[in-house]
Formats: sequence, C-alpha cells, structure tokens
Amino acid sequence: MLRLYNTLTKKIESVTPSLPKEFTLYCCGPTVYDYAHIGNFRTYTLTDILVRALRYGGNSVHYIMNITDVGHLVSDSDSGEDKLEKGSKREGKSAWDIAKFYTEAFLSDSKKLNLMDPDVRPKPTDHIPEQIEMINTLIDKRYGYIIDDGLYFDTSKSANYGELTGQKRSELKEGARVEVNVQKRNPTDFALWKFSYPKGRDFDSNLDDVSKRRQMEWPSPWGIGFPGWHIECSAMSRRYLGDQIDIHTGGADLIPIHHTNEIVQSEAATGIRPFVRYWVHGQFIMVDNEKMAKSKGNFYRLQNILDKGFDPLALRYFYMTSHYRSFLNFTWTGLEAASRGLEELRSFMRSAKNNAGKRNELSNEKLLKIDTFRKKFTDALENDLNMPQALAVVYETIKSNIPITDKYDLLLEFDEVLGLDLQHVKQKDVSIPVEISELLKKREEYRKAKDFKMSDDVRKEIENRGYEINDTPAGSVVIKK
Ligand code: AMP
Ligand code: ZN
Repeated sequence: MLRLYNTLTKKIESVTPSLPKEFTLYCCGPTVYDYAHIGNFRTYTLTDILVRALRYGGNSVHYIMNITDVGHLVSDSDSGEDKLEKGSKREGKSAWDIAKFYTEAFLSDSKKLNLMDPDVRPKPTDHIPEQIEMINTLIDKRYGYIIDDGLYFDTSKSANYGELTGQKRSELKEGARVEVNVQKRNPTDFALWKFSYPKGRDFDSNLDDVSKRRQMEWPSPWGIGFPGWHIECSAMSRRYLGDQIDIHTGGADLIPIHHTNEIVQSEAATGIRPFVRYWVHGQFIMVDNEKMAKSKGNFYRLQNILDKGFDPLALRYFYMTSHYRSFLNFTWTGLEAASRGLEELRSFMRSAKNNAGKRNELSNEKLLKIDTFRKKFTDALENDLNMPQALAVVYETIKSNIPITDKYDLLLEFDEVLGLDLQHVKQKDVSIPVEISELLKKREEYRKAKDFKMSDDVRKEIENRGYEINDTPAGSVVIKK
C-alpha cells in the first residue's frame, strides 16, 4: 500500500481510497497567461508519477487537472490585475486568445514530458454557473459578505481555518502579510467573486470605453464580474469528483493561501470534512538557492532545454533523481548527468531487445529474484514515492544475473511508473561498435576453448572501452556502461 506524506496531518500515512481500488485525484493546473516553466512541470510530473504508481498498484484513478483561464490575480491578496488580462496587454491579443495559445503550449510540453492526460481538464470560464451556485450556497450559510470590489469569504466563521499550515488565523493577523483592502473583515478573508465595477453598479459609465473594460466578465446575482481564483478548484473538483476528494496535489507555495482557502470554502459549502483526505505537495525547483519563478526571471522553459540538445525525457529523469519533498537545484551539470542516466537505460533496452526471442526456462531461483526486484521497486514507490530509490532498483535489476529478456520485461513494467518511454528506444541507435562485437566474438571463442585467462583479458579490454558484458543463458551481450 502506498504511503505518502500528508500535509494535512503532517504524517506519512497509508493511502487508501474511499471506494475500493478507486481513487479520486485533483491537481491544480497552470494559469495560462504565459509559458509554464520547468519548476511548474516538476509539480505536474510528481502528480503524473503518483497517478501512475496508483494505477500500477491495481487501482483506477479519476484524475482531474484544471486549466486556470480567469480570476488568478497578480497578488495573492486578491488585488492587482488578472494575469490573463495582463498577458493580453503584454501581447496585444485578446485574453481568450492568450488562454488558448498558452493552453496549447502547455499541452504540447506535457506531451513531450510523457505526462498522461487527465480524465478532464476543466476551465473556470466553462464553469461559471457551478461557481455561482457554490457562492450562493456560501451566502445562504452566511459565509459571504459584500464590499466595494467584490464578494468575500469570512474566514472567522471557519473554526478550522489554517489547518494545512498549522497556523491559527489570529497568528496570521499579526503576521507579515501586507493587507491592502481595509474593507475586509479579516486579513485572511478572500474573494469569491470580484466586481468589474464598484458595488451597486452593473455598468460604470466611465468605463464605456470598451478598451478599458475587462474582457472576461459575467453577470451574477451580485453584479457583473468574475470568479475569485480559489472558488474554481472547489467548484470544479466538486463537479467532477464529488464532495470529498481522496488526493489533491500542487506545489508547496499553494499551501498557505490557495489550498487553505479551497478547504474552508468547500467544507463550508458541503458540510463534509475533510474536503481532501490526503494533501500532497511538491517542493520547488531552485536556481542558486532561489525558487524558480516567473516573477524572478530565473526560469527555464522546456524549450530552452530542448534548444541545448537535451531530450525532454532527460528532464523527467532529472526530476526523479531527487525526492519530491526535497528542494531540487537546477543545474546544467545535473541535467547532463540525468541525460547520461537515461541514455544508459535506453542503451540497455536496445541490447536487450536484440536478444528478444532467446528466451530460456527460468529456474526457481531466478523467478524468485524477479519477484524480489519487483517487490523492491514497489517498496520504493510505497515509501512516500521515493523515486531515487526506485531508480536504484532499476540499476540493480540491470546488473543482476537474471536473464536479459526478463530484465527487459521488468524494466518495461517499471516504466509504467517511470514514464521514460523505454519501449520505444530506437533500434537504429544500437550503437555497439564493430570492434566491440569482434572482441565479444573472440571472447566466446576463448571461452569455448576453455582459455579463461585470454577470455578474461578480452573482457577487461571490452570494459576498458566503456562496455559491460552480460552473460545470460541465451548467450553473452554487451551493454554500454
Ligand atoms: P502557477 O502557474 O504559478 O499557478 O504554478 C503552477 C504550479 O507549479 C503550482 O502547483 C505551483 O505550486 C508550482 N510551482 C511554481 N513554481 C515552482 C517551482 N519553482 N518548483 C516547483 N513547482 C513550482
Ligand atoms: Zn487550485
């Protein structure tokens, strides 16, 4: 059974679905006002590996990742411009075109990183009625109040506010957060619906200049406007996964505000606690000890990596070289090492593929060994999704003395979780040079003649040239080290 660190309980827990063998999982997806960077993709890859690991364990997973195309403001305290409108000004395109363009870019990068498609990628602009309905419920239950610029959630009404961070609301009041909206009842209150125009007016005559008006706005019982950022995830997760979700993922920066707010509004609307049974958060990609972020300008996109000649799956491999709860420093040297690791796996798969068909009966001892590797791999996954440990098992398997065809099969099986597309290693790249094949032939001859001294010398020669010999019941093969 998978064991994961749950941000809610701050413990590593066995993860069980609420329905037998059937998980529901929601991941906060990208805000499509610009390209996603490789920091963002670490979080999406974590989610992808988690979904794969659950499926590998024989479960089905209902997997939803939203695409935020409205309502995410520049500042976390519900002020500032909508990121989509900002993107629109930056590029002189409509906000709708910005959303479309960057959604496509995101999907294309996701595909290159071999991220599985979620069952649905809902967008808040397609789910305005669901968000309005949830806000209505919150108002009926007296959680909402109206001020000049919007309708807000009163966090003082939620006894459990701040569960994820472990901080009390009263502590946050004195905290360092700069409060800009003096009309809010509590500094931690957040917008459910923001008005395009000040309260009480459905249309501002000063804004009849269309160019100054918001591009994305909808009528609501409270006035023309748009949904707050957090309500989309509460409303859309409810629409597709029900009142309670098994697992919710996202990056660690979403814990104190976005996820904290999702919890209180969902629980207030449905009356069901906990809204999410297991919260799983990925730690950041760093550059020179600083979080990789668009606002800091210290980010790389997948395309920057491809431009340097890297395979996109080398990045995926790079993510797996550290545990998801550790900071991962991005360096080109680190990426090169990951790229070599990936090439090593591919090279093994190529030579193993060449041996396909030379299958031998397995002894009981070898069958047992295969089970041991499979178990070790599963143990690594179950150990809080420990991918560095899982990769170590992969190498242990390759180096073992089980038949090469079985190693090949096992690696394909492990790849269901790793997602390195090991099935499709290109045959033309089988690059065992002729002189190495000749040396291997020579060694076979010495072995047949029982001249072990000479056969050993040849083996050393092969190894010195960077190749490794794998003696299998089906014969000897060489693999690039
Ligand atoms: P955003 O588009 O800023 O909403 O971020 C999308 C996702 O990427 C969120 O889950 C963030 O928590 C996550 N994220 C942002 N920056 C990083 C980073 N440097 N490393 C890992 N994940 C990040
Ligand atoms: Zn979200």
